[in-house]
Amino acid sequence: MARRFTGPKLVVATHNRGKAGEIRSMLGPLGVEIVSAADLGLPSPEETGTTFQENAILKALAATRASGLPALADDSGISVRALDDQPGVYSADWEGPTRDAMVAMRRIQEEFTMRHVPDTDAARAATFHCVMALAWPDEHVELVHGTCEGRIVWPPRGSGGHGYDPCFQPTGDKRTTAEMTEAEKNAISHRGRAFRQLVEACFA
Ligand code: IMP
Repeated sequence: MARRFTGPKLVVATHNRGKAGEIRSMLGPLGVEIVSAADLGLPSPEETGTTFQENAILKALAATRASGLPALADDSGISVRALDDQPGVYSADWEGPTRDAMVAMRRIQEEFTMRHVPDTDAARAATFHCVMALAWPDEHVELVHGTCEGRIVWPPRGSGGHGYDPCFQPTGDKRTTAEMTEAEKNAISHRGRAFRQLVEACFA
């Protein structure tokens, strides 16, 4: 049985304003008051974990320790099966110092070419992961894990979404997630799925 959030205030452990706003719009209607780590001037911890779980937990614990409030953190990325599940937790690193997702998507394509990976759904399978950790000041942590299965396509298509979306085609759809509306992507995405699990377990 998961621990319930009894509020009212929650720290979102991110310095990304878009992410904090997204979480505010989803939890606000449930009466949760959201403050971001950036609003509180909290430092970002180094993401030294080797799994999505470890990174989500270390970010949530750092924020709850520094603020004395319950804190929510997420960690996400894409695992490509033919590349031994790379880039995984290193998805942001593959985008290079300028955080350009095209750099990472081109690298995946080059690796496919070098490894002679056929251009089929099965051979180019990939999974988006999102782990969310909700931590309390007594260091109790609740975890949820959402996934979205699909394949890598080349060339990139679409201008919506962010990151690797132009090269990711979810299973059962002919479009990439960058060709979907925000609501369509949210209905099937790793982050949307993790978030709905979290709301059901801890906020409903
Ligand atoms: P973060 O940990 O959520 O900031 O994301 C880590 C990396 O995964 C970033 O480099 C993103 O480009 C990539 N990523 C995470 N979620 C998505 C998504 O929904 N679409 C595309 N890329 C994503």
